Amino acid sequence: MTDSILVVGGGIAGLHAALECANAGARAIVVERGPVAGGRLAATMLESSAIGDRSEGTRTPLFNALVDNENIEIMTLSELQGIEGKPGNFTVSIREQARFVTDACTRCKNCHTVCPQVSPNEFDAGLTHRKAIYTPMSDTLPEAYVINIEDCLNTPPNYLPCNRCIEVCDDQAIFFDMALDTVHRRQVGAVILAPGFRTEEPIRFAELGYGKHPDIVTSAELQRLLEDPGPTGGYASKPSNEEYPESVLLVLDNPSPFALYIVASQVHQLLEQDVEKVNVLILSPPGDDSVEAGRAMAADHGVDVFWGAMFKVDSAAGGGLEVSYEDLTSHRFQRGCYDMVVLCNDVEPPQGLGELAESAGVELAQSGYLAVSGGNGTAIGSSRPGVFIAGCGSGAKNIKMSLAEAQAAARAATDLLDPRILGTADEAADEAGAEHRIPPAVQDDMRQQLEQLLYALINRP
Ligand code: SF4
Ligand code: SF4
Repeated sequence: MTDSILVVGGGIAGLHAALECANAGARAIVVERGPVAGGRLAATMLESSAIGDRSEGTRTPLFNALVDNENIEIMTLSELQGIEGKPGNFTVSIREQARFVTDACTRCKNCHTVCPQVSPNEFDAGLTHRKAIYTPMSDTLPEAYVINIEDCLNTPPNYLPCNRCIEVCDDQAIFFDMALDTVHRRQVGAVILAPGFRTEEPIRFAELGYGKHPDIVTSAELQRLLEDPGPTGGYASKPSNEEYPESVLLVLDNPSPFALYIVASQVHQLLEQDVEKVNVLILSPPGDDSVEAGRAMAADHGVDVFWGAMFKVDSAAGGGLEVSYEDLTSHRFQRGCYDMVVLCNDVEPPQGLGELAESAGVELAQSGYLAVSGGNGTAIGSSRPGVFIAGCGSGAKNIKMSLAEAQAAARAATDLLDPRILGTADEAADEAGAEHRIPPAVQDDMRQQLEQLLYALINRP
């Protein structure tokens, strides 16, 4: 008999599901591939956020709820390897890669200062740089720094030791002799797959001008600029000279509902930052319902929306960017000048979803996302009993839907555990002290904050 549930994915849906399980008295083991919890929204979720207190270092209720909850174990740099057994009594294998930095790390940054190996910071959409030993953001869960061993000069076998980081680490938190990976086996009653999503790679954008000028950016890059904290403190600025843009054009090549939500959100944020001219160019003919919905959203903000074809962007003679396109409404050739051009990414199934499906023994749909089954009115059942799906693993969706699925998946998963065990876990938590439980008010605050935050990011009207 077990009181545990495995949650694969430490993004918004996974963490929300884990909190729901923990509140029901279960133990939640969260397995996250990346070095920190939080997924695509780690920065805004775990630090001072766009809707919270913007003072430096402020932690959100979600961060505190996760840190203080003894019923939640977060394993980073970890992946599911296999599931054996049956619902209520699974044995799962988890492969954990070495972090090379222990919990003794006090985030003093000495190692980062001396490390000679520089790489783009994936958590800032490559807009900033990090070292081989680093922390992705100013506050993370777990807090310890991490070494990307592939970037490190001490990559085993260690022919040419560097060790500069060890020499300046007064807390003796760095160990290169850790096993490269360790396989853990755990008993769990149910599994929740919450692998998140992947932002479309900008490769396709080269023909639209991406890479020609620093002020032609993707919406993923703009999003990171607009996040507080981000590389520019939450303000849009031109990568070429860090000045404020006066005019921005957002170019939507694939007007999917998800991309439209992103555009609506970013238009709103740019206007809030007093950008004088914000326009949207949709590279498809007018008339589609989703395009009309996007136009209505933008029109509410006084933003011009154009439909165009044969889009081209070049450096303008007097500075800025010259955009030319065929207007599909008037069928005339048009030109316009902007300080920044934003090419909007869509979303795709997360990287490694096929491998995850194989490890979990569940089926993929033709769309490339996890196949949903059950037919009981919910969208959380996978093709394997006892394995549930929450969030974008089964397809792109907005945050409200992801959180609702996380809650439903947590309920379905805890239903597979013996309630007598859950009762014991609850009593133990009570005895250990109320500070280890999430007070209902905090949880309500947290949920409300998450919904507002993600609504602001994805679905702002
Ligand atoms: S020097 Fe040591 S304690 Fe300081 S941030 Fe680096 S690993 Fe952490
Ligand atoms: S040993 Fe690796 S992580 Fe440490 S300073 Fe050298 S390159 Fe950086």
